[in-house]
Amino acid sequence: MNSPLTIALSKGRILKETLPLLAHADIHPVDDLDKSRKLILDTNHDAIKLLVVRASDVPTYVQYGAADLGVSGKDVIDEHGGDGLYEPLDLKIAQCKLMLAGPADVDLERLTRMRVATKFVNTTRDWFAAQGKQVEIIKLYGSMELAPLVGLADCIVDVVDTGGTLKANGLEPLEHIADISSRLIVNKASMKMKQQAVKSLISKIRAGVEAA
Ligand code: AMP
Repeated sequence: MNSPLTIALSKGRILKETLPLLAHADIHPVDDLDKSRKLILDTNHDAIKLLVVRASDVPTYVQYGAADLGVSGKDVIDEHGGDGLYEPLDLKIAQCKLMLAGPADVDLERLTRMRVATKFVNTTRDWFAAQGKQVEIIKLYGSMELAPLVGLADCIVDVVDTGGTLKANGLEPLEHIADISSRLIVNKASMKMKQQAVKSLISKIRAGVEAA
């Protein structure tokens, strides 16, 4: 018997790049995702549903078992902490870098505390702490590039793809913190209780990643 499975995804780049991998596993949403406002999407399998949630909430849905599986950026998983999750597969999609960035003349070695604007509060604190530096972290939810331009922060920690957004705002990449890509995450209890269905899905999606 096929166990019912729910998969949490976020709209935008991750959803767009995940759909071909799901198609490789013969999972197709029934509705037109560009038009539908439903948050629980039916698929061509009665037992498989897709949940559409905010990107930063995907690990939370999976941690608590509200979704059995999810697709989430490594930046978001690291910031969440990964409690209650397995991360069995790098999907190699939505690739980018987590970077420290700021004005070219920012003094990273100065003795007074630097102010760093980011939405990745835990990752940023840990990264500076690993270098023996204490910084003041200013939590923002978006448009981090603005913070150094208006004196809110000395520098930022953010995801960078082409670097075009930094450049357009007169900022430069200063330090590489981590390579980012989206990962398949699995609730630890679902991995045990629905082992056959979960493992079969992972291996089909893995084949899709390898074929891409
Ligand atoms: P870029 O100008 O190409 O460096 O893109 C940078 C902007 O796009 C940043 O403000 C990021 O927030 C966003 N971005 C780029 N790649 C990703 C990704 N893989 N996941 C989430 N956001 C991204």
